[in-house]
Amino acid sequence: MGDFIPSTPIQIQIRKVIFEEHNEPDAKFTNDEIFDKLKQNGDLDPSLTIDDVESYFLDICNSGLARNIAQNFTTIWMKLFLPIEKIHCTACNFDVYLGPEEDRTCPNPSCRSTV
Ligand SMILES: [Zn+2]
Repeated sequence: MGDFIPSTPIQIQIRKVIFEEHNEPDAKFTNDEIFDKLKQNGDLDPSLTIDDVESYFLDICNSGLARNIAQNFTTIWMKLFLPIEKIHCTACNFDVYLGPEEDRTCPNPSCRSTV
């Protein structure tokens, strides 16, 4: 990984793409689709690979936002449990995206305030 620092933390970028394009609990999506969108948006270190961001997708499965329904090599298929909510974090001033059953903690890793 290089010295690229995204203006929005990757954790929030991932949640935003899911909120904007896959916010339907009956629909499934893959980490590849989300990662491609992040690359198109351009706020990402261009040297990152799908393997480098795997931990972020494991995190959203562990936190109760989504569940892993299938996996084939590096591709992970996921489904939301419930629609995601958009919340403004007044501590870090980012719009953040949380599942109703997740802890009310800001997903910005440098914030972690209660929202
Ligand atoms: Zn925050």
